[in-house]
Order: sequence, then structure tokens, then C-alpha cells
Amino acid sequence: MAVTQKNKTPIAELNPAERVTNFKEVCLGYTAEEAKREAERCLQCKTKPCISGCPVGIDIPGFIRALREESAEKAAEIIAEQSCFPAVCGRVCPQEKQCEGVCTVGKIKDCEPVAIGKLERFVADRALEKGVKTAALSEKNGRKVAVIGSGPSALALAGSLAKKGFEIKIFEALHEAGGVLLYGIPEFRLPKKIVAAEIEKLKQLGVDIECNVVAGKTVTLDELRAQYDAVYIAIGAGTPHMQGIPGTSLNGVYSANEYLTRINLMKGYKFPESDTPAKRARSVVVVGAGNVAMDSARCAKRLGAESVTLVYRRSVEEMPARIEEYHHAVQEGIEFAWLTNPVAYLGDENGRLKAVRCVKMELGEPDESGRRRPVPVKDSEFEIPCDLAVEAIGQGPNRILLDEAPDLALNRRGYIEVDPETGKTSLSGVYAGGDITTGAATVIGAMGAARRASAAIEEYLKNPAETKK
Ligand SMILES: Cc1cc2nc3c(=O)[nH]c(=O)nc-3n(C[C@H](O)[C@H](O)[C@H](O)COP(=O)(O)OP(=O)(O)OC[C@H]3O[C@@H](n4cnc5c(N)ncnc54)[C@H](O)[C@@H]3O)c2cc1C
Ligand code: SF4
Repeated sequence: MAVTQKNKTPIAELNPAERVTNFKEVCLGYTAEEAKREAERCLQCKTKPCISGCPVGIDIPGFIRALREESAEKAAEIIAEQSCFPAVCGRVCPQEKQCEGVCTVGKIKDCEPVAIGKLERFVADRALEKGVKTAALSEKNGRKVAVIGSGPSALALAGSLAKKGFEIKIFEALHEAGGVLLYGIPEFRLPKKIVAAEIEKLKQLGVDIECNVVAGKTVTLDELRAQYDAVYIAIGAGTPHMQGIPGTSLNGVYSANEYLTRINLMKGYKFPESDTPAKRARSVVVVGAGNVAMDSARCAKRLGAESVTLVYRRSVEEMPARIEEYHHAVQEGIEFAWLTNPVAYLGDENGRLKAVRCVKMELGEPDESGRRRPVPVKDSEFEIPCDLAVEAIGQGPNRILLDEAPDLALNRRGYIEVDPETGKTSLSGVYAGGDITTGAATVIGAMGAARRASAAIEEYLKNPAETKK
């Protein structure tokens, strides 16, 4: 099949000047004609490199072929064999590093890879529009699994086991289920109604979700082990790292975690309609260059900031954020100070932030990650005036459950140690997956771990001698 167009089929997006005034979804998705045209670019390669580039191994040529044959329903079924949240993944997966990064079309001179993510989103959105359909359910098998957390890993595991007849109960610490999909990723990238629709599908499968339960405090791991045949821990990595530079306690310095949670989960962007204000600043500095930093910067802009500067100690080439989000941030007027590192926050006489003192950096020898290490340039200090600073420099594990369960083996980075093939922890019948085992990673990575763990739990519970009931 010939590639008739070199570039991806353009996709409609909200105009940048308009979209920075609201939280509406930026990317509007393909129409049926556009999706078909883009699907025609796929070569249906025999070697199928895109499948191996997908962390959960979706039959990408298969679903694109179905789409081409005008069966969006069949395409949805093919995707559903491997992935339970395509509407989410089609929106937030870093496709350029995964399936699209290895697509054969992208290797042809001057050609862009097939827009696999956007096609996945098209298929998933059509399926959701047609109504939330309950998959064929197996008969209840009498086995009970407790799931701690309700992010993508927990939800994926719950869905997969519920379909097979397991009784699943999810325990979530916050007042709403969804994990980072809800409290981290903003509405303009992932509308809450998409997350809600996915959760609704799980409820139709019989999954029971109890919010406001902090495992390790409200209920202990031992209690859950006594009441359930197996436990899956998917509590994410939600504790923000802070640089700990002078001035961190000034009024106006936030962690991205608090800033985004306040805006997204507590609807701070709707103040005063909702009574949880998020600080509206005129001039904002965001530290970091991952997805969390991009989201914080773009939220600040939408809350009315006149200037938002993203400060990163390495160069644009090392930026970990999704490339699409970076482009959107550029279009929205976010400024970037590359090779720049904050060294202190400066306050006024009332303890309110007024500037960030930074130092210029240059790239030295490679460090253990293989990336060139940023080194401060002597006498290069300068200040960026601002009234809000948001640190988005990474997250670590929340210790509440881990401290309460000292027999649960951790790795040297403080995450739960698991067998990567099964998610099995050091405790019998206890499995774990997602960011709490890897550190902050990706939605699809968290779902992939759930797939492996659900297969392992199923296997484990087949053997009555190994289980309590
Ligand atoms: C702002 C932001 C933007 C991101 N953007 C992207 C992106 O574009 N693409 C991408 O692929 N990835 C992105 N990520 C990363 C991705 O969201 C995570 O890798 C993924 O959500 C991890 O899933 P998880 O299920 O392991 O944990 P989480 O989504 O973190 O969910 C963990 C859940 O467990 C709950 N919990 C914690 N402790 C307890 C306890 N003791 N008892 C009960 N419940 C508990 C938490 O409240 C939370 O709901 C982003 C992350 C952030 C923060
Ligand atoms: S690698 Fe690209 S062109 Fe080849 S089958 Fe996959 S999506 Fe189609």
C-alpha cells in the first residue's frame, strides 16, 4: 500500500488565543473522513514494528485495517483485547517514543509516522459515544481481590479480573477515583468525562469502589489480606520531591502536586463557583520540563497569568515531556529558560514570593543516566520576578502504607520490589504494579503491569492449596 501523503492528516485543535482562557480540550479529534485518510497511510507491514513499540502489544495494523474497512466497532474490539482505556491512552501516551517512534512510514524520507494515537482515540471515542457497553461477564468464581488505589493500574487490573468472575473491591484514599488521570492530568488534555465513562464501565462489571479509605490508616494491609484472597497495591508515586532551596516556605511556592490537585480534583479553576481557590498569579515560574511541569505551566496561563516561564536545568533535547504538549505550551505563550536552575526563592517583607534566583547551566560529561550532566556556570546568577513558583521535579512513594507494612520488601529506591513478570511482592498473595513499583512513569506502563499481575493473580488463585479460601 503506497503512502499517498507524507505528513499526518492534520487534526483540529482549539485556537491558542481562545483556549488559554478556558479548560476545554485542546485537541478536537479526527472526523470519520480524516481518520480514514490517516488509516490509509499505514503500510500494513509484515514485521509490524508498531506492535512491539506498544507496551501492551495492541494489534495496531489490525485495528487500522478494520478502521479502513469502515468498521470502527471491530477496530474497538481489537484494541480492547489488549487495552481497557484506549480513550485515555489515545490522548496521553507518549506515542512518539512508543508505537509511532518505530512506525515504518516514519522511516521513509520526509514522512511522518502514522498517527496511531489519534486513530486509537478516534476509535475509542466512537465506542464511548455509542454507549458504555458491558463486556460479556464470566460467572462469579467466589474469589475476592482487594485493590489499593484507583489510578490506571488499579482500574486496569480491576477490569481485567472482574470480567473473569472475580469479586473486586477498590480502596481509594481520595474522595474520587481515577488517580493521576483525575487529579493530575488537566481537563484540557484529558476530559474528566472520559475518565468517568471508563470508571462507569468498571462499575457495570460489578467492581465496587470505596473512596476516602487510606490503606495503612483506615484499614491495614494485614486486614485486607485476611479478608481477601489476593491484594493488588497500585498506590502510585504521589509524594512530591522538592529542591529544598532557600525560601521554599515562602507564600507562593507550591509543589506541582498540590497546585494541580487543587485545580483539577478540587475544581479550583471554577472558583468562586467551587469554593477551593487556586492561586491566580500574574507572573509564574515552573521548575522542571516533564508532563507535570507542562501541565502546571499551562494551567497557570489558563488561570490568568500574564507570564509563565518554565525553567529547566538541561536543554530542550533532554526534556522528558510529550512533544505534543511542549508544542501546545509554545503555542500558548509559555516561555522556556533552558539550561537554567533555581538556587533560591526571594520574598518580600510579608513573606510572599517576589522572585526566583537562578543560575545558568552548561552540559558536562554524561551521568549515570547517560545524559550530559548540567553544571552551573560561574557568576551567572540572575533573577526572574514572579508571584508564584511551582516545583515539578519528580515524585516519590507515599509512605503511609509502606510504613505500616514493614514486611513488604522495597527496592533501594524505596519502591515496592516485585517480580517484573508477575507483580508478585515479598508477601504471599500480595501483588503490586504501576508507579509504586517503577517510580513516576506512564499510564500505559501502569496498565501493562496490571495486565501481567492480573494473569499472575488468576494463576495463583487457581490453586486452592495456596489460597486461604
Ligand atoms: C500531572 C501529571 C501528568 C502526567 N501526564 C502523563 C502523560 O501525559 N502520559 C503518561 O503516560 N503519563 C503521564 N503521567 C504519569 C501517569 O499519570 C502515571 O504514570 C500513572 O498515573 C501511574 O498510575 P498508577 O495507577 O500507578 O498510580 P496513580 O495514577 O498515581 O494512582 C494511585 C492512586 O492511589 C491512591 N493512593 C495512594 N496511597 C493510597 C493509600 N494508602 N490508600 C488508598 N489509596 C491510595 C492515590 O490517591 C491515587 O488515586 C502524568 C503524571 C502527572 C502527575
Ligand atoms: S509500523 Fe506503521 S505502517 Fe507499519 S503496520 Fe504499524 S502503523 Fe502501519
